[in-house]
Amino acid sequence: MLEITGLTKRYPGEKQPALQDINLKVKEGEFVAVLGRSGAGKSTLIRCINRLVEPDSGSIVWKGRRITGMNASELRSLRREIGFVFQHFNLLPRLPVLTNVIAGRFGMMPRWRSLTGLFTEGDRKLALASLEEVGLASLAAKRVEALSGGQRQRVAIARVLMQQPSLLLGDEPISSLDPVTSERIMRYIGGLHRERGMTVLLNLHDVISAKAFATRIIGLSGGRIVFDGLPQQLGDQE
Ligand code: ADP
Ligand code: ADP
Repeated sequence: MLEITGLTKRYPGEKQPALQDINLKVKEGEFVAVLGRSGAGKSTLIRCINRLVEPDSGSIVWKGRRITGMNASELRSLRREIGFVFQHFNLLPRLPVLTNVIAGRFGMMPRWRSLTGLFTEGDRKLALASLEEVGLASLAAKRVEALSGGQRQRVAIARVLMQQPSLLLGDEPISSLDPVTSERIMRYIGGLHRERGMTVLLNLHDVISAKAFATRIIGLSGGRIVFDGLPQQLGDQE
């Protein structure tokens, strides 16, 4: 489903490449956790997949389409099809929770505001149902600033439910949350994988969460893949 070949990225002014010749195939229905120390290249890898980061060379093909060759308008439609959860939630500021969830339908496009008038009653219903699934329907009219970090990440999960992507990417989605909230968010993401059949590729700091939820673990170090196997093949340390 996702095929990464020879992917290399070096940020301007950096001596070491952030990614060096990454080759990786992800099958439909896998839940892949990417583990590694800070600076290993995890975030760069995930962000190359939806081109939030521009790779220097190599190719990324998803469902037969070459992401690495896409122009701006192709990328916009791609980002509507690929879900993304961030460490810092990345919600639209000063706007109601419900609007944030509906934005999932539009791939969080920067000019989404001009679309407000196009939201249908169906969008609203689906967004409310998505909020209900994460237990936040009662906060639908609140602005995102009024919510805690854990609640914001649940809004981000509701946005993914609204979007219904076949691929969900995540860049440390639980790193800024307390252990209890982290567990809850991981359960939701596990549900998206099991019940909705989403293919999931997440960066995680936490080996225990990775082992509990992932079907496959990728270890990164110095921009290279140093481990690729089943969760049970991984020791208790990185
Ligand atoms: P991780 O997510 O595993 O912490 P990153 O992909 O964020 O790793 O970073 C990999 C390497 O690239 C690190 O050495 C980091 O300092 C460097 N790096 C990341 N982003 C940038 C950037 N925008 N500019 C310069 N260097 C960067
Ligand atoms: P994190 O929450 O993981 O720390 P950042 O705060 O680094 O994430 O923000 C990620 C960046 O990606 C922001 O600059 C944001 O504008 C951008 N971004 C977020 N979602 C999308 C998207 N769907 N398409 C394009 N850019 C996005």
